[in-house]
Amino acid sequence: MAVLVTEITELIGDTPLLELTRYGRNRDLGARIVAKLETFNPIGSVKDRIAWAIIRDAEERGELRPGGRIVDLTSGNTGIALAAIAASRGYGSTFYAGDNISADKVALLRAFGADVITVPNTFFLDPDALVLLRERARTEHPDAYFTDQLANPVNPQYHYDTTGPEIWKATAGSVDILVGGVGTGGTLSGSGRYLKENNPQVQVVVAEPGWGSVPTPENPYPQEIDGVHKITEAEPQQIPDNFDQSIADEYVAVETADAYLAAQALAREEGVLAGSSAGAILHVATQLAQRPENAGKTIVAIVPDSGERYLSAGIYGNVTAPVAATV
Ligand code: PMP
Repeated sequence: MAVLVTEITELIGDTPLLELTRYGRNRDLGARIVAKLETFNPIGSVKDRIAWAIIRDAEERGELRPGGRIVDLTSGNTGIALAAIAASRGYGSTFYAGDNISADKVALLRAFGADVITVPNTFFLDPDALVLLRERARTEHPDAYFTDQLANPVNPQYHYDTTGPEIWKATAGSVDILVGGVGTGGTLSGSGRYLKENNPQVQVVVAEPGWGSVPTPENPYPQEIDGVHKITEAEPQQIPDNFDQSIADEYVAVETADAYLAAQALAREEGVLAGSSAGAILHVATQLAQRPENAGKTIVAIVPDSGERYLSAGIYGNVTAPVAATV
């Protein structure tokens, strides 16, 4: 139903779920995979939810006033959502990100008027990197409100209040398995907790981008899947406070190439253009759907963002190459 609203934040959430019928049929899957399309949020990713929740909370507590500025460390999507919402409410924004974030994401941040400061991805080799970067952000912007997506409890709470209930309602309580990635940990910790409270049998599975998503001395510039970290092998300091590890029943490693292939299949078989973390999540959901013990189950796979944010990163192959003239 068409709605008329007066601010972009009113359009956040209530995202649709799409059963991947053709994709499932093509692979003869025993379980049904349902994609939660977070791309339907107004600024295009799952992060619209927490960006709004954090800004609203700061306003309510009087920490953010007209003309203020927000600052955070971001792999892109949170920054893009924060920048857009900040713009709509008259705030400025500054973000610190690893220099491996996709060029499309930097362009989007700048389009919404944000300042972007990149740090070499090798910086994240230091187990104290997040702490150090937080300190730097605070020192360089002492008057700004530090939204702190990695530790701000408003993040998982909002997923508990919205994403979890939306999945429960849309599947009429039939969800058996929830698959997602972990960036801040907010999505899975919050919505996973809600689903488990309603049905303790619900399994929460983390899609872990393969080797390479944490920089190592041998491979300081891994082909990272934007927005997601390899949590199981991370130093304790690198595990975001917002990730409640007790919520995860299983971690499944995914090679970057397999994530890309799954994203390509989703585009070509369902007409859904998703990002690389969605590809990793779908790849895991597919493996789960092939397990005999999961026959007849409902697997909800989060699609955190759109493939349009990664076209130049090559997820879909060389699709941005100039079209050669044919004579
Ligand atoms: N995928 C992408 C593309 C993301 O940007 C994020 C958030 N950084 C996630 C997945 C994971 O979401 P969360 O932060 O809620 O764990």
